[in-house]
Amino acid sequence: MTTETLEFQAEARQLLQLMVHSIYSNKDVFLRELISNASDALDKRRLAGLTEERLRTDDLHIALALDPDARTLTVRDNGIGMTREEVVGLIGTIARSGTAETLRRLRESKEPAELIGQFGVGFYSTFMVADKVTLLTRKAGEPTGTRWESAGEGTYTVEEVADAPEGTTVTVHLRPEDGEDGLHDYTDLATVRRIVKRYSDFIAFPIRATATEGAEEQVLNSMKALWARPRAEVAEEEYREFYRHVAHDWTDPLETISLRAEGTFEYEALLFIPARRPHDLFQRDGRHGVQLYVKRVFILEDSRELLPDHLRFVKGVVDAADLSLNISREILQQDRHIQLIRRRLAKKVMATVKEMMTGDAEKYRTFWREFGPAVKEGLLDPAEDRKAILDVASFASTAGEEPTSLADYVARMKDGQDKIYYMTGESRAQVENSPHLEAFRAQGYEVLLLTDPVDEIWVEGVPEYAGKEFSSVARGAVDLPAEEVSEERTGSYAPLLGWLGETLTEVKEVRLTSRLTNSPACLVSAADGLTPTLEKMYRAMGQ
Ligand code: ADP
Ligand code: MG
Repeated sequence: MTTETLEFQAEARQLLQLMVHSIYSNKDVFLRELISNASDALDKRRLAGLTEERLRTDDLHIALALDPDARTLTVRDNGIGMTREEVVGLIGTIARSGTAETLRRLRESKEPAELIGQFGVGFYSTFMVADKVTLLTRKAGEPTGTRWESAGEGTYTVEEVADAPEGTTVTVHLRPEDGEDGLHDYTDLATVRRIVKRYSDFIAFPIRATATEGAEEQVLNSMKALWARPRAEVAEEEYREFYRHVAHDWTDPLETISLRAEGTFEYEALLFIPARRPHDLFQRDGRHGVQLYVKRVFILEDSRELLPDHLRFVKGVVDAADLSLNISREILQQDRHIQLIRRRLAKKVMATVKEMMTGDAEKYRTFWREFGPAVKEGLLDPAEDRKAILDVASFASTAGEEPTSLADYVARMKDGQDKIYYMTGESRAQVENSPHLEAFRAQGYEVLLLTDPVDEIWVEGVPEYAGKEFSSVARGAVDLPAEEVSEERTGSYAPLLGWLGETLTEVKEVRLTSRLTNSPACLVSAADGLTPTLEKMYRAMGQ
């Protein structure tokens, strides 16, 4: 059968270059990536077997074969496998959005090795240790298989093979130099066991290893579902590794949350708040949500039903005891129990953030910087617990450089002040230069500076916080005590005001104000009108 030589897609080629020439010191992680892919493929196979009898198979497992003479390490799974098209599409290309950005950062970085550690680089990481990688795969249920091979340079070959076993076998042809220190000899069983224990112990399928031809097989991992173990018995490092596996993120999580519900509807949850926002946080088709398991069996990736949308960045696992293994997304959306889980998880996440706020200000600041704009989307839904969201929110303010919580704002309010003043805009600098702020500043009123696009919208719908209304300083006659201008004064300006009113036809009303101290005039929205930024937004949308 013919062998075809194909070129890697441009981004893939660049990423490979970085891997081949990597000086990243922790090369061990390539094995974790291969095992993680094998585990994903086994999950998919098990799932397919639930609905298609002929795809059902017992003994799903991962097998490692170490060959010191040939200097190869082989990772085999009897999982779902790939078709030829899938091999070309999934291995020859990087479909993930954000790759270009990732690559740019990698190339521009002075410490690319460090950065590589922070990006989930998956299959390509094998090229940190290999001078050639062979992948043999057959999709479950398909008659023939595919062999893929590459030295990681610009091209790869694919050919059809008649007798490939079902599932995927990856053979890593190790570079000679890596084995020399003994520590990183990936054909040495002790080394491989150490790596599996460290990174992949929780993998739900047995990882078997044979050191040499004919030797006895050993199972290297304990296969214990981390979420089912008491928190005190799990090392932080184990949680971190699990996080990397489920979140495909190499940065340590900010928080780990575990939860167990007993009673009529039992479930366990292990959730993580990441330390940085994923690049697709604000994309509709982004990878959002947590994994759903039923009695230790993986059911669904990225289930958005288990947490409200504004907490879509939370990663982890929910394992429910009483759901059907055949549950679909449609059923999930309507299931009453799922709705209860969702509410409980959301509450727990918010409580965790609140604790962070008082217990670890630095951590909280990171959280809010990365995820605040998403969390605030929850304020748009009247059915959400808006108070819980406002309680953990913080905003830039005229009171200082650091953002303030609403509770602190309220505590600082002046005598007689009964509103929370805010001004919306595109940036802090833009808002701070606005004439609308002048009188408030001059009279010592603190104003919140709201500059996220979502702020424009929620302030319209959220009536109050701690009994204090939100009030835009850019709108209507703001009731600062000094705002009232005497009739006598207005009278003496009547001709000017009249003339201005007639000349400026687009303006509804012209009046004297005490709100300005330096600027001679400013434009104000009607009390029931739109804020300037909203007006701009609607205009841009053609409304
Ligand atoms: P990721 O796992 O983050 O998607 P990888 O680079 O590790 O990225 O893998 C790319 C894709 O190749 C996977 O999403 C999967 O579809 C496919 N793949 C990799 N390894 C296997 C395997 N052992 N069995 C089946 N598919 C695989
Ligand atoms: Mg992977």
